Amino acid sequence: MVAGIDLGGTETKFGLVNREGEMLAYQTIPTDPDIGYKTFFTYLANEIECLLLSLGDDVALLGASVGAPTGSQANGTIDNPSNLNWPNSLPVSKILESLLEVPVTVVNDANAAAVGEMLFGAAQGYKNFFCVTLGTGLGCGVVIDGELMLGSMGHAGELGHVTAIKGGRMCGCGRMGCLETYASATGIVRTVLEAEKDEYEHSVLSTYHKTKITAKHITDAAKEGDSLALKAFDFTGKILGEQLADTVAILNPELIVLTGGLTRAGDLLLNPTIKYMNCHLHDIYKGTVEIRLSEMNTKKTAILGSAAFMWLKLDSVSTQKV
Ligand SMILES: [Zn+2]
Repeated sequence: MVAGIDLGGTETKFGLVNREGEMLAYQTIPTDPDIGYKTFFTYLANEIECLLLSLGDDVALLGASVGAPTGSQANGTIDNPSNLNWPNSLPVSKILESLLEVPVTVVNDANAAAVGEMLFGAAQGYKNFFCVTLGTGLGCGVVIDGELMLGSMGHAGELGHVTAIKGGRMCGCGRMGCLETYASATGIVRTVLEAEKDEYEHSVLSTYHKTKITAKHITDAAKEGDSLALKAFDFTGKILGEQLADTVAILNPELIVLTGGLTRAGDLLLNPTIKYMNCHLHDIYKGTVEIRLSEMNTKKTAILGSAAFMWLKLDSVSTQKV
């Protein structure tokens, strides 16, 4: 078994995952910022060991992997854990290795999602693809020739912060017009709120308080044929599709996997994205790249992805031994 850990700002979810991608045990504990990281990780390690024991005596833990938004796989650290009172560049892999006595890796959540799709999901059997996570922001993990592309600092593939519209929407990173300000769950809400007054007032979405509208409301409205909601999906698909076409020219993938909360909209998002990507693609790539939605259970995708990252490491070690 490998322990996949999804370390979030308010709760930490973890599960024991075998090489086939089956999660045989699962648990959640609060990520309490006040108890200090030493106490937290000791508690986490104990809980993982209890979970392992619950599966019987003949199950061994081979490794663990921690997925976190600011996880650095190069250093095994979690950098800038902004909502936790933990030190910067906390050496999480070292701390957990000494407690669990198995190898521990740290991976950022976008890369974990890509590896999860490669080992257990929509990208099984593919060696050149990238996986775009459309949640609160936009993350991207890239696999080239079967290997995760990391770059010099492990931050390759930050597609969420390439410029989609010059001088466009203000982004949390301090720049303007970044892709994630348009193509994400929060981006589509901004699109609706920026609509012309007339159009907005004719939409069912105007019945919600402006601060309460979510991507789910927009999805439900679009399914009922609401014209503003449908337009918002078309616009989101346009911005995303055009940017994907540019990315195809850099990476030449055979597949793009879309995952994350916004993909629960299904064809409402997928169809315009495919349409605009194909319109924008250079001729040499036409018909060579497919876009698919993730088939994984989104609640546990992050755990499976973290575990997949460790399985990939264990596979490469055993291959080297052979
Ligand atoms: Zn940005």
